[in-house]
Amino acid sequence: MWQYQILETGFFYADGGAMFGAIPKRAWSRKYPSDEQNGCVLAMNCLLVWNNEKVVLLDTGVGNKDVGKLSYYRFFDTENITDLVRKQGFEPEQITDVVLSHLHFDHCGGCTYKDEKGNLKITFPNANHWVSASQWNNYLHPNALEKDSFRLQDVMPVKEAGLLQLVDTDIELYPGFNISLYDGHTAGQLVVSFISEKEQTVLFPSDVIPTKAHLSNEWISAYDTHPLKSLAAKIKIKKETESKNTCMVFYHDAYHPRITRINPKE
Ligand SMILES: [Zn+2]
Repeated sequence: MWQYQILETGFFYADGGAMFGAIPKRAWSRKYPSDEQNGCVLAMNCLLVWNNEKVVLLDTGVGNKDVGKLSYYRFFDTENITDLVRKQGFEPEQITDVVLSHLHFDHCGGCTYKDEKGNLKITFPNANHWVSASQWNNYLHPNALEKDSFRLQDVMPVKEAGLLQLVDTDIELYPGFNISLYDGHTAGQLVVSFISEKEQTVLFPSDVIPTKAHLSNEWISAYDTHPLKSLAAKIKIKKETESKNTCMVFYHDAYHPRITRINPKE
């Protein structure tokens, strides 16, 4: 049985048209608000998951290094992930595992930070950092659509420290804690599910279903590299949740970070 807590690491703006792809604004604006520039506020909701033996962090937010270079995204209210971890009673050194859904900067920037001298440091120095092999290959050899989403300073120090663990198939990482691979948004995205204390399955779909509004099958972000794979991934995840007592935590939803009942018609 696992306990968990959402860690709200900050917010940024993404263009609503890009977030909802081919869906017209008159439809998506009923489910997700935007400002006068068409900007939608997106959250970065990481999850801390722990039991008696393991303390696992799911994604790490954008972090606090080089955010100025990303001014287009208008990041705001960003929190230091180590402060948020400490608030839950854990030191950064106690984190045993970091599962990175994928390596876009808004999900893994918090893996490293710069100290006062400007040296890059690993935020969770004792943690195994889990990434899919296909996503790692993508990170090293990015395609034209994703190249601006990857920053080598985020995860390369982790690899150099011998803390990177690659997965290439669905696995039960620990009892009651599973990792599955999904394509669509990017290659080999890791989706985590675990059994919480209340016998509930908690699912962290990350950018396979970034917000509650994206539960609708065809509501696919224009950022996704393979929309038809995104569609298939979404149908598969939703099918898996039908028969179970499931709740979902949405990484990017600033308004509905967690839902406990999944309407199969959505
Ligand atoms: Zn994202």
